[in-house]
Amino acid sequence: MLSVTIQIHRHILSSQCCIRYEDSFHVVDSLQVSCMPSKLCLSLLRGAEIIREVHIIAPTDFFIPSSLSSDQIDSVDSGSNLMCPTSQISSNHFIADLRFRLRVSSIEKLCHSIIEVPVDVKNFFRERFQKHKLWDFVCGSCGCILSEKSLSFDSLKEYSESELSEGWFCHKMISNPIPQWSSQVLYMDDVSFYLDHHFFKSQDSFCTNLKNNMNCPECGILLGVEKAPHSLRRFFFDKLMLANSFINEDPAKYVHKVILLSFWSLFQKSCASSIIVKLFLYNKEEDLCLLLWIPTEKISQFHLAHSAQDFPLETRLESTAVYKVLYFVGDSSSDSIRSWRHDFTVDYYCVSDTLIKTVVEMLKKSSLHAPHVPNPFSHGFLTPINASLF
Ligand SMILES: [Zn+2]
Repeated sequence: MLSVTIQIHRHILSSQCCIRYEDSFHVVDSLQVSCMPSKLCLSLLRGAEIIREVHIIAPTDFFIPSSLSSDQIDSVDSGSNLMCPTSQISSNHFIADLRFRLRVSSIEKLCHSIIEVPVDVKNFFRERFQKHKLWDFVCGSCGCILSEKSLSFDSLKEYSESELSEGWFCHKMISNPIPQWSSQVLYMDDVSFYLDHHFFKSQDSFCTNLKNNMNCPECGILLGVEKAPHSLRRFFFDKLMLANSFINEDPAKYVHKVILLSFWSLFQKSCASSIIVKLFLYNKEEDLCLLLWIPTEKISQFHLAHSAQDFPLETRLESTAVYKVLYFVGDSSSDSIRSWRHDFTVDYYCVSDTLIKTVVEMLKKSSLHAPHVPNPFSHGFLTPINASLF
């Protein structure tokens, strides 16, 4: 396996490169990199014999070869070349890991400006509710229909604790009109709907069950998580689907889509006010916490991994803009979680367990080939979604 990761920091015009070769039979005994202004040449060597040579083609005069630097003592060769021997990790695992920095002349040569459409999960639902009128509540896991009858909503409104809570009524009712909660309005925030539990099927034990645990009567998953004022209950988007017979969609794809839209909506809210976003995502039911530390300046990343035989002989250096993320997963008793709990620069959200697990999965996958950071925090990369594709 040969993997090449090049991350370019836009402001400082510096790139961090990580090239890794792995095999089971010690076919290759060293990995060599030669840098030229418009390409990187990677050679897999056995003695003096070249087993395979691949080229990463950059724009004209993109790299500055004299700036090549590495702090790996076993790897520095001379000038614009680096060489790293393969070392044996276990009886049938050989690895060569070459990491270095390289300055680049200009980032404009690499990036095409893309117009980014801000992500707002509420726009997705707004459009959905404009197109169709009648809706059923469906378990996001097993597809069981949970509503008594099909329902329609006249409008969609941001759920606000202050507007609907009993506390607000107590303190403000003298000077302000009481905001009227309406069953014709669909209340929501960035991760959940707030629905009247009377909308749900009332027969058998389901209604009682719904009032307490709010589990699906068919598959048993937890649908709703906490009581809200009035007869409203909170249901995460990915647990309870609003569906109808006109929309023919794969529930798994729908769930994944709303999770991504929810996560990026939360991120963008925080992004507007800070150059570093600190998100604390918490799922109470599983006591699962995810801390995310994300600089809002994106880096440009090129990544390609193939078996050494299949790695293309020539590849153009094309990059994707990604967020570099430090993250920590743990329960609420962990030290890192406790210290973030008291940090006022952290944005805190209660989300579904599935949202946390999906984001962690993306982060783990994104850093499979990156060097490990010895820290309670791990690092990974998130590629922003293009809202216009949804
Ligand atoms: Zn179910």
